[in-house]
Amino acid sequence: MGRRRKRRKKIVRRRSMPPRYFQCPRCGSMTLTVDFKKTGKPGVKLAIVRCGTCGLHCELEVPEALERVDVYNKIVDLVYEDRLDECAPKSEGGEELGEAPAEAPGSEEEE
Ligand SMILES: [Zn+2]
Repeated sequence: MGRRRKRRKKIVRRRSMPPRYFQCPRCGSMTLTVDFKKTGKPGVKLAIVRCGTCGLHCELEVPEALERVDVYNKIVDLVYEDRLDECAPKSEGGEELGEAPAEAPGSEEEE
């Protein structure tokens, strides 16, 4: 009588995983982290991507199934396409603008 229990073979401890570091597509340092937060919406979580070196910071709502590396790939695409604005965190206190005035690429204007 009673319920059967399957013997568990592996004990998988789910501790909070240490943050993994990715290579930052903007500055190339291995200091890019991806964290997840709850959004309150079902099936959706908030991915927070940050680089400790160049200050890259974006937040992105992604399906719950996505993993860090998936989010990372998205970010890489955004950076290469120069679309980081799309996932910029909505902070209202405009503290620091991470905009470095880039030099004009190659083409000089003539008068
Ligand atoms: Zn960086």
